[in-house]
Amino acid sequence: MPLYEYRCPDCRKVEEYIDPVEHAPVHRCGKCGREMDRILSVFSTASKSSSPDGGDCGSCENSGSCPLS
Ligand SMILES: [Zn+2]
Repeated sequence: MPLYEYRCPDCRKVEEYIDPVEHAPVHRCGKCGREMDRILSVFSTASKSSSPDGGDCGSCENSGSCPLS
């Protein structure tokens, strides 16, 4: 299942949730209770990225040997 990142519009707290593809639930900020906005989605395999620059394979020149792919 995809991993989604949510951000509170109020206090900017960011949390990650693994949601079902359909019927994504509403997540509320644990700090102030505001409904959080989904800001991006990455597949769960990307969450174990250890790339020092935080990049992803989309910009990797050596995609054939990239350890993240
Ligand atoms: Zn908040």
